[in-house]
This record gives sequence, C-alpha cells and structure tokens, in this order.
Amino acid sequence: MHSYSPSTKESVLSDPSAMRIRGVVFDMDGTLTTPINEYLQQMRQDINVPEGMDTLSYVDTCLKGEAREQAHRRILEIETAAMANMELSPGLIDLLQFLQDNGIRTGVITRNNRMAVDHFINNVIGRQLQEHKELFSFDPILDRSFRPIKPSPDGLLYISQQWSIPPEQLMMVGDHGDDLLCGTRAGSIACLLRYHDNRRFEPLSHLVVDRIDELVQHLTSGFRPSMLATDDSKAKK
Ligand SMILES: [Mg+2]
Repeated sequence: MHSYSPSTKESVLSDPSAMRIRGVVFDMDGTLTTPINEYLQQMRQDINVPEGMDTLSYVDTCLKGEAREQAHRRILEIETAAMANMELSPGLIDLLQFLQDNGIRTGVITRNNRMAVDHFINNVIGRQLQEHKELFSFDPILDRSFRPIKPSPDGLLYISQQWSIPPEQLMMVGDHGDDLLCGTRAGSIACLLRYHDNRRFEPLSHLVVDRIDELVQHLTSGFRPSMLATDDSKAKK
C-alpha cells in the first residue's frame, strides 16, 4: 500500500501530485464526541437484547405490541440522556484547526438520527465553543436517513464524488468496526480512535490513535498505513 505524503499546505505546494489525505470524514458518537457505550449497554440491558443482535433490529423484528412500544420509549429516553451528556472528544479543536489551516475538507457519516446531529451542532458546539464554531462546518453530514448506512461504503463514496476527491485520498475516522469497514470498502484510509473496549477493531484499521489530535502528527509528517485492512472476514461485532 502507498505511503502517504504530508497533507500540509507547504507540502502540497512543493509536490502537488503526491499521494496524500485531502479530506477527513468522521463518525459522530464516540469520535467527535466522548464514548456513549455506557448508554448503548444500558439500552441493551433494559430491553434484554440477545448477545450478538443489533438493538434496533431486535426491537423491530422480535418484539410486538406493547413490548415494542415500551422498548422504543426506553430507547428514546436513553438517547435523550446520552444527548444531554454529549461532550466533545478531547483534542478535537486542535485537529479541526489543523485541517482548516491546511485546506483539508471535513464531513460526517453517522448512524444516529438527525435530532442528535442537530443537537451536537447547535447545542454542544454552540454552548461550549462559540469562538470555534467555523471549525465545525462539516459538509456534508450524512445521518441515518442516508441509506445504506455504515458499514456500507456508499456514504463515503458519495462524499468522494461530492468533493471530487478520489476515495484513496480520504480518511474515515471512527471508534467502531462499522466505520473502519466503511472506510476500507470505499478504498479509503480507515483510522480507529482507540479506547479500552474497542481494541478488537484494530485489525480492520490502517491507522490507530488514542486521542483524536494525534492525527495532526500523522498528517503533518506523512504516514504509512499499517496493514491492508481489506479482509471483511475479520469483521467482528
Ligand atoms: Mg461511534
């Protein structure tokens, strides 16, 4: 796999045709924000979702009548609690400043709903960071109304087309295997934001960071993707 040249303005001027990252697409929950796993766990526990099943699919296919209604109400309650506690990922401002300074585009692909996305943009950022608001002009932002959702690469390929940037010059950053599969299936660089409980996704990534602003270093000096993370059979739930 290619080595990636620095993505800084100076590097672009001195060698415009080099392979480099020109756009970064972020997952929202647990990537732009701090992890929400405790809420997702709570949801599974309260609704008794069987091991290995996705919460929404379980509720819609296995529950009926009042049980389903009740589960949906519980999901909404927990989603609302998670939203109220949403916080920015540490280091995010520094990374976004770097991306803006160097003309690197930013977008978002999330499996969350539009209400949560709007809350993030208007309230979390609006409340904490009025002076940095221009850094958060992600465009486009694809929520779960864009189908098919991750791990399909379609969202990322759509953005590649919108930006007229080939997929291999895009990076998908996320905290879940679905984000990484979306990235690798599109032919882009997949970067894992690692926490103590998502290390199992490392084999699906080209790059791993423990704090999101570590990406500044990689994009400043250039990097070599750690492996060919293209084998879907390594996908784990
Ligand atoms: Mg996430």
